[in-house]
Amino acid sequence: MSKRVLVKFSGEALAGGEGFGIDSEILSFIAQEIELLKKEGIEVGIVIGGGNIIRGVSASEAGVIKRTSGDYMGMLATVINAIAMQEALEHIGIDTRVQSAVEIKEVCETYIYRRAIRHLQKGRVVIFSAGTGNPYFTTDTAAILRAVEIEADMVIKATKVDGVYDKDPKKYSDAVMLQELSYDDALKDHIKVMDDTAIALAKDNRLPIVVCNMFKRGNLLKIIKGQDGYCSIVK
Ligand code: UDP
Repeated sequence: MSKRVLVKFSGEALAGGEGFGIDSEILSFIAQEIELLKKEGIEVGIVIGGGNIIRGVSASEAGVIKRTSGDYMGMLATVINAIAMQEALEHIGIDTRVQSAVEIKEVCETYIYRRAIRHLQKGRVVIFSAGTGNPYFTTDTAAILRAVEIEADMVIKATKVDGVYDKDPKKYSDAVMLQELSYDDALKDHIKVMDDTAIALAKDNRLPIVVCNMFKRGNLLKIIKGQDGYCSIVK
């Protein structure tokens, strides 16, 4: 069984039906899913996106906000989400630390990888925020990067869908879910698992990426235990 995992949630996942903002029910649901992992002694790192608040590309579309500033705004959005997640976890008694890739010392710790590992060893959930700390990257890339740094056994990309399909299941009714695919398959244009930078980094470091449905109760634990979790694995 995997001992240390990194789970990536998109910002949009936190938004619920509204499509924006933060839904407390979803936060609580995620916290309960993480609690199941903690009860099994699994060390958990979390990366959350910021898409429910702002994305650099969309913010800069009108030409008023520069892309670089938009990206920093996006990174700050992930800190907002991380604090919300921290509250939800601590609300049910799970010890957490938020670390940020950009220094915001009044709000959370600054990312220090040795310190992050120490927290994990002490049983705390570490929420890595502010992405990689650099514009022009995504939180998917941040998830792979942090997972490699903390030597996680796998990255779980927790999504709204069950896994990776050979073509867009919304457009094609005969789309087939792939149980396993190679990094090179994942880099093909029509298969959108993560952005290429993220996948290339995972490939270089032989880090498995599991794509699964976060809304199926108990799914994360099943996957980590190697049981019949419903998911796709990129390796
Ligand atoms: N971002 C960035 N560098 C990073 C991670 C994120 O500049 O290392 C910015 C980027 O503008 C991105 C936004 O933060 O659009 C929110 O992250 P992302 O789009 O990955 O969130 P998600 O789609 O997972 O909600």
